[in-house]
Amino acid sequence: MNRKKFLQNTLGVFLSANLLKTIDLQAKSTENEINLLKRIAPFTQEKLGFEKNALEPFFDTLTMEIHFEKHHKAYIDNLNKALLEPKFKGFTLQKIFNQADKMPTVIRNNAGGHWNHTFFWSILNAPNSQNTPEGNLLKMIETKFDSFTKFKEEFTKAALGRFGSGWTWLNIDSKNELFISSTPNQDNPWMNTSKEKGKPILALDVWEHAYYLKYQNKRVDYINAFWNVVNWAKISSDFEVSIKKK
Ligand code: MN
Repeated sequence: MNRKKFLQNTLGVFLSANLLKTIDLQAKSTENEINLLKRIAPFTQEKLGFEKNALEPFFDTLTMEIHFEKHHKAYIDNLNKALLEPKFKGFTLQKIFNQADKMPTVIRNNAGGHWNHTFFWSILNAPNSQNTPEGNLLKMIETKFDSFTKFKEEFTKAALGRFGSGWTWLNIDSKNELFISSTPNQDNPWMNTSKEKGKPILALDVWEHAYYLKYQNKRVDYINAFWNVVNWAKISSDFEVSIKKK
């Protein structure tokens, strides 16, 4: 084999390994998540699975109204507008995330904004003090972080450590390992720009628009409130699907 051929083959293996990782991670998603990743413009906003006052007193109604009807809606409208350019015809969210480094900032930010918020709403529900992770998710959290309490401490630390606007995530990687990460702006762990790639299991929006009306500058109070409205039952059952799928 000559050198050129060798390099081509090596590059081929490298590219297919990266592609495989992306497919692996996508395969770990539930049907709803896959549908969203594969959707093309024009994007629409799905209805919330709960009333906007259902998360009181932890997430207040006015913040939920503005966050859903103004902020999230604006990401969708701006994304649809930016994707009108013919060269982006047929682009899915997955395609945008896979080449986030090459996308115009307006598309990267608004595509991330749409996916991140849709996912965030999907893992929240009305307060339930008995609500904790279950099954394999609980076992894996305890293996990785020692205890659910320690996990919450680590996640809180990451959320407080994000300077400015961004998100904090609990993810599963292609080897079924859990890890916490944090991304700036509207980036997410699907993006090829993300230092650690993974499929999000849990998300927390730490933009000030998510908490300022009720908690002002006290991000830690908002994070503590968040634990009361996390839908661990749904997250735990989705997780069973994720780890069983190849
Ligand atoms: Mn937000």
